[in-house]
Amino acid sequence: MVLDEQLMSALIKLQQTIKTDCDNYCVKDIKEFSCTRCSGSACRYVYDPILRENKNNFATNNKINIKRFSPSICITHRCNLSCVYCYQKHRDGKSMNRNTLSKVLDWIVSNKPKNTQGIELTFIGGEPMIEFDTMKYAYEYMCSNYPNEDVIFYATTNGTLLDEAGKSWIRKHKDRFYLRLSLDGTRETHNKNRNSSFDLIDIDFFKETWPGQGVKVTLSEYSLKNLAENIKFIHSIGFDDIGGVNLYEGDNFWDKPEFIDILKNQLKELVDFYIEYPQLRLNQLFDKRLDFCESTPKIKCKRCGIGENTIFFDVDGTRYPCTFITPMTYNSLELQRMSDFNFKSIDNFIDEGCYNSCYLYPICPTCAGANYMVNGSFKMRIKNRCQIQKLLALYVADLMGKRVIMNPKLLDDDIKYYTIESIKKIREKYYSLFF
Ligand code: SF4
Ligand code: SF4
Repeated sequence: MVLDEQLMSALIKLQQTIKTDCDNYCVKDIKEFSCTRCSGSACRYVYDPILRENKNNFATNNKINIKRFSPSICITHRCNLSCVYCYQKHRDGKSMNRNTLSKVLDWIVSNKPKNTQGIELTFIGGEPMIEFDTMKYAYEYMCSNYPNEDVIFYATTNGTLLDEAGKSWIRKHKDRFYLRLSLDGTRETHNKNRNSSFDLIDIDFFKETWPGQGVKVTLSEYSLKNLAENIKFIHSIGFDDIGGVNLYEGDNFWDKPEFIDILKNQLKELVDFYIEYPQLRLNQLFDKRLDFCESTPKIKCKRCGIGENTIFFDVDGTRYPCTFITPMTYNSLELQRMSDFNFKSIDNFIDEGCYNSCYLYPICPTCAGANYMVNGSFKMRIKNRCQIQKLLALYVADLMGKRVIMNPKLLDDDIKYYTIESIKKIREKYYSLFF
């Protein structure tokens, strides 16, 4: 049972004991500089000592923003897999040459925004490991030409192309060069989503090289059915941080009753699991700050670094606003239409309908690039999963409520007070829709 009477009355009692000075609770500091679709700049959890220290305190994690300049470089359009949810359409087999890459790296160093600390360089593809030598070249180039720059290197990989020589180079450079593995869960689920590639991955290599580093999970219709089993499996083999847990982007209608029914059971199982193992870092689906929903005024911000901090360089060196807005996803006419868009204007990213009328707006995930793909507008959110967001909010509230009762010191007083307030509202607004 989600948010049952007993839990609600314990929460109300706890709330009455909290002294808070906040007449007007206002959350301001959530500007996200990275890509939220792939769970932010994923190597922060490995690299940043403050985040590592606080990794079990999700309230604290969410408050810290390390503002690194986070450009991505597409070093190849080629990929050796063909995953069921891949949105990249225009594959042409091209890769970036070293001359172009050197110019891109020079540009990045000279254009690092003044309000950022250090550079987090992400290589993407296709599958970036197809051009491993090019990534090594970039590493050496930065070390020789910019020895004083604070740069870390990062790539998300399908993990199928690492040979012994590659592993040995990576082990040597693991303190500045990180790989994050895409892993969708058990062998069965992963194989279904990702081209039967589970047995081609040396999972132990990833765990041992970067303990604490997480994996990126993408949900398909198939994996939704086994969501709890997959998340538990990934934790059980030793990965602490599970990011990118999102329903895949596009116009798939996720709010079907059959998906809702499946998800109810899966989310309940996950709540029980995270209650049983309170030391685990919550996966991205559950890692939400409910108190944000109680902020007055409502938080108004861009959710990611599109067009500013997450710029993307294609294989020919052309700059684009982010990894989603590229020739692999959009044709030249669509890209041309976006070219004079003002990415700095926050208003250009606020869906007024959602902002003005939806309580979950501050915690509902969105990707402006995917919005454009489906709705032809960066700001207009894809509404094909609103029911799922409401259902998810109930279970997030249930989990947070149970964790706070188990450990009242888990959250600072103000956050605790408004988290409980939000749990009450979520129950009031959405419970009867599903139960
Ligand atoms: S719009 Fe681009 S930067 Fe923003 S969440 Fe989507 S992919 Fe990431
Ligand atoms: S749940 Fe739906 S209506 Fe609410 S903010 Fe998200 S997209 Fe908008």
